[in-house]
Amino acid sequence: MLTRRTMLRGLAGGAGAVAATPLCREAQARGARHLPDGALGLLFDGTLCIGCRACMAACKEANDLPAEHTALTIGNYWDAPLDISGETLNVIKCYREGAGTKKDEVKDGFAFTKVSCMHCVDPSCVSACPVSAMTKDQVTGVVKYNVDACIGCRYCVAACPFNVPRFTFDTPDPHISKCQLCYHRAVDGKYAACAEVCPTGATLFGPVIDLKAEIARRRALTPGAETTYPRGKIGGTDTYRGAAGRYVARTYGEHEIGGTQVMHLSGVPFELLNKPKLPSVAPARISESLQHAIYNNLIAPLGFLGALALLAWRNMRPKRDAAPPPTGGGS
Ligand code: SF4
Ligand code: SF4
Ligand code: SF4
Repeated sequence: MLTRRTMLRGLAGGAGAVAATPLCREAQARGARHLPDGALGLLFDGTLCIGCRACMAACKEANDLPAEHTALTIGNYWDAPLDISGETLNVIKCYREGAGTKKDEVKDGFAFTKVSCMHCVDPSCVSACPVSAMTKDQVTGVVKYNVDACIGCRYCVAACPFNVPRFTFDTPDPHISKCQLCYHRAVDGKYAACAEVCPTGATLFGPVIDLKAEIARRRALTPGAETTYPRGKIGGTDTYRGAAGRYVARTYGEHEIGGTQVMHLSGVPFELLNKPKLPSVAPARISESLQHAIYNNLIAPLGFLGALALLAWRNMRPKRDAAPPPTGGGS
């Protein structure tokens, strides 16, 4: 029979079982995720960007997205959106200081930067999504979104360290919006529309391994020296002649949260371009382990409570069986 003593003993045993599976031990960060062999990505070189925003228009066209009414829309005059949104997956922003006349200079200068999904090597959005609506392609590493699987919880919005996924509140079919590296164009032999139309090769598409080699080549050039840049996609025939840039030492996306498949070069510090300063360890490594540890550790107390309920039911049964049958009111 279940007594107060056996119950207390059981509770102590249950607590011991929980303590024997310490959260801390199981919540240790899992191993780092690595770049897939066939990883595809983009290189954005701010020193080559002329701010024409052709890439923004091409992105909208390629993804069938409408023009937006923004703070800059006056009457019937439309202007480019200032930030990414449910209807805009790619934005070119401009840093400006003082007179704003010197390209890629901090003082009295200006510089361009691109805002779009970074296609993280270990994406927090994928890790946070409870229904696998966000997935990382095993071959290309492209981070994709499945609207049919999405339940609209917006965990991915909260989890992304680059503040990328946007939720469309104002449509009859609310969903997440973010760049998917134009993977839908691959069936027609096409690639990222933003890179395809870029007149200077400032946005360049290709295998990440080749983009990294191109970054190393650019860094080795003497600033100001004439050079030939690939235009559109790396390995193609289209090129652009221009002067080598003077870059800040860091390549943005090389180490941030375990690396990203979209990388940035710049002539001004990334802090001035509003790029978040992030650790080199992917937060998903820790948060995912913690999540799993919580779920795993819940099994022990839940199992104990189940056993307790069974015990209580069994202890009560003899009493029930021994009780006299209910008597009817009739004769
Ligand atoms: S930038 Fe944000 S949305 Fe894009 S892959 Fe990384 S975590 Fe996901
Ligand atoms: S909103 Fe959709 S994609 Fe984002 S976490 Fe929820 S289910 Fe996943
Ligand atoms: S890859 Fe495609 S969806 Fe992504 S920013 Fe470029 S054009 Fe837009």
